[in-house]
Amino acid sequence: MTSLTLADILAARKRIAGIATLDTPLPPSPCLSAIAGDDVLLKLEIGQATGAFKLRGAANAVLSLPESTKGVTCCSTGNHGRAVAYAARARGFRAVICMSSLVPEAKLAGIRALGAEARIIGKSQDEAQVESRRLAEEEGFHEISPFDDLHVIAGQGTIGLELLEQRPDLETVLIPLSGGGLAGGVAFALKTIKPSIRVVGITMEHGAAMHASLAAGKPVAVTEMASLADSLGGGIGLENRHSFALCRDFLDEVILVSEEEIYRAMQVHYHEDRLVCEGASAVGAAALLSGRLGRNHGPTATLITGRNVDMQVFTDIVSGRAVQLGDTTLKGHIHAA
Ligand SMILES: *Cc1c(COP(=O)(O)O)cnc(C)c1O
Repeated sequence: MTSLTLADILAARKRIAGIATLDTPLPPSPCLSAIAGDDVLLKLEIGQATGAFKLRGAANAVLSLPESTKGVTCCSTGNHGRAVAYAARARGFRAVICMSSLVPEAKLAGIRALGAEARIIGKSQDEAQVESRRLAEEEGFHEISPFDDLHVIAGQGTIGLELLEQRPDLETVLIPLSGGGLAGGVAFALKTIKPSIRVVGITMEHGAAMHASLAAGKPVAVTEMASLADSLGGGIGLENRHSFALCRDFLDEVILVSEEEIYRAMQVHYHEDRLVCEGASAVGAAALLSGRLGRNHGPTATLITGRNVDMQVFTDIVSGRAVQLGDTTLKGHIHAA
């Protein structure tokens, strides 16, 4: 594959059907709809076996490999690693997942439970990637990028097909944005099928590599910082081949949200929608609640991308307690119904 086509995404949907859960639900959020003044729907990827949408892309990549593959490796903020480990186990491949020390314990445990080897290297995604690259170059592993691999991107793009089958009248889609494999694949599918749709990438204020890169017109590095949306951390790779161009060409805009806004959005998803979701999943609601998306956005879907949150942090947030984020303390706030 040299560039993405709708046929690749349709093929991915067939290929991953036995491993990833397809046609995940798209229920309305009465609370967010009332606040927004338009239907707000939640695309629930938290029901994937690994707790996050990344299983779609990882399954498509692993299932596309030859039987003779020696093993697979990747660097990951957690959810991609878990997805690769899951798909590799299904095919009987060895998997080595390389992660930085910023990855929460809950995510590490999830990966080890799937029989994969988890290696902790350095304090950033970029440092972890040096090890997965080495495994590929020196030990013959197949490296699967979390976002810059066309099979991964095509797998994530299957969400776009489903959204328009479920709600052809959607006018706006909110996509949590990090490396841009998800946003690139989903926005490509959405815009190819329905060019008038507005597709918005949402990410946190600090350490948003894709946002900085789109502003600069080329991939740039940013300093990674602790965030409630830990799954959105990490760079996009200065040698980015696919996801940067897809996000540049198919996203209408990128909105940034603060840690306080993510905290409150997680409370709303829990207390109102009754969902356990991780910070990265709540950035769409954060953009809606902050008013930053604007009004009159029509029927809007927000992608609830994962539920793999540290439960101590989660219970602190939904109980309104302060939480520690690296060197800073995020003030508590009690959710009022
Ligand atoms: C990876 C991830 C994202 C962002 O996906 P990218 O393809 O890196 O942009 C969003 N939410 C969750 C829960 C993730 O694990």
